Amino acid sequence: MTTAGHLLQALRPEGYARTHVDRTDKGRLMPAGASTSQGSKTVRTRFAPSPTGFLHIGGTRTALFSWLFARHHGGQFLLRIEDTDRARSTDEAVEAIFEGMRWLGLEWDEDVVFQYAQRNRHADVANQLLADGKAYRCYASKEDLAEMREAAKAEGKPQGYDGRWRDRDPAEAPEGVEPVIRIKMPRDGETVIRDHVQGDVTIPNAVLDDYILLRSDGSPTYMLSVVVDDHDMNITHVIRGDDHLTNAARQINLMTALGWDVPEYAHVPMIHGADGAKLSKRHGAMGAEEYRDMGFLPEAMRNYLARLGWSHGDDEVFSTDQAIEWFGLDAIGKSPAKFDFVKLANLNGIHMREADDTRLANETLRMMTDVKGWQVTDDTRDALITAMPGLKERAKTIDDLAESARFLIETRPLAMSDKAAKLLDDDGRGVLTGIAPKLEALPSWTLDGLEAAVRDFADEKELKLGKVAQPLRAALTGTTTSPGIFDVLAVLGKDECLARIKDQAA
Ligand code: GLU
Repeated sequence: MTTAGHLLQALRPEGYARTHVDRTDKGRLMPAGASTSQGSKTVRTRFAPSPTGFLHIGGTRTALFSWLFARHHGGQFLLRIEDTDRARSTDEAVEAIFEGMRWLGLEWDEDVVFQYAQRNRHADVANQLLADGKAYRCYASKEDLAEMREAAKAEGKPQGYDGRWRDRDPAEAPEGVEPVIRIKMPRDGETVIRDHVQGDVTIPNAVLDDYILLRSDGSPTYMLSVVVDDHDMNITHVIRGDDHLTNAARQINLMTALGWDVPEYAHVPMIHGADGAKLSKRHGAMGAEEYRDMGFLPEAMRNYLARLGWSHGDDEVFSTDQAIEWFGLDAIGKSPAKFDFVKLANLNGIHMREADDTRLANETLRMMTDVKGWQVTDDTRDALITAMPGLKERAKTIDDLAESARFLIETRPLAMSDKAAKLLDDDGRGVLTGIAPKLEALPSWTLDGLEAAVRDFADEKELKLGKVAQPLRAALTGTTTSPGIFDVLAVLGKDECLARIKDQAA
């Protein structure tokens, strides 16, 4: 059973009915029997994060799906900041969302909607429902509510409000109590959520209580705000985490009470860690900017996240244009996707090899300075561009690039790793002393010329190439792992190479 299934079962212990979505209408899939009035409407999706923390990977994936779906249909993708929780919403979190979205290339259409700014409109809608007799004032006290919870628990019913003020004469209202406004939910029948991912999910109305629309201080609840905003923003497709599936049943009834169109839904399963457990920081539950700082490219993230819970045949590696062309809600899986860093890194390596060298050099420079705090020189960028074809062959992340290019920015005399120091024994130092004049005598400092000189020297001394390359690598990089030795020589340039060799040969 899916997470949504468990959720619903918790809500209604005796279980719920579920039927299949008619997946015959390719592309613009419609649940069986769904209203066709939206068939002609421009697709409008939204991403509606709450700015209470970083833009986490689950949210990012949902945003990507909404974006891909809108782009696939030539529609609009909107961003709404759900900042109604004033205590927990922060400007920094809003900025992090913008930055993360921009970095990932998930550009949004139209102005960002801030939910809190719409609060008067939300309250007006609640008051209109009240005037129409579709909502009512409830004066239940904290104690009453606690009592109802206890009673529901004792009877094994899902917790909820028992509707005691629904038909009660307001004249009985206790004095000095500011009421809340509750929606009159249907008492009988059932609510069907026609979901592109979950199928038709049927919930008996008996388990949906008369929830609060407006709190006693006049502030709108999340449930009300979402419905009004989705309507006002003309959202046609709500694509979001399946933790909101039961909310959909509540929201559909509010829309119906208001006489509004119900959007199409796609409730996407959660992301789990590679071990199947709930996603934690160790598994990758971090903000988008942390992925950037770990050295992942946005196009690789898009590719990886698109594949996380959605598939197009056996395709694993694809461009964003292909994802837009192929994307549809019908191919989103029903079970939780597993986040796997190893796969992400492999995919990133593939996208890096396709990427432009100058761009990679700029990203590597940023990694070296902004993330690692290393000192670079004016020449580092050019050296990185020159070294990039060799560097990127072996790297999976920008971090790998920075680490393997670190030798470029080391200052003399280089500190030697333990392994490198071992290579510079008498034999190793002999190699350095012997080869220095050969290199010095080279008329030009080219890859081919350098390779020939090193090979000739090895032949002359009857040494295997490795016996020459290893001490050279140690002297030039301070380590025993680096890009190819001829690349290292070429990129560092003649003066720096000879100086580093002499530092160690002495
Ligand atoms: N703000 C909600 C959240 O961050 C999303 C609400 C929705 O997508 O309807 O979970």
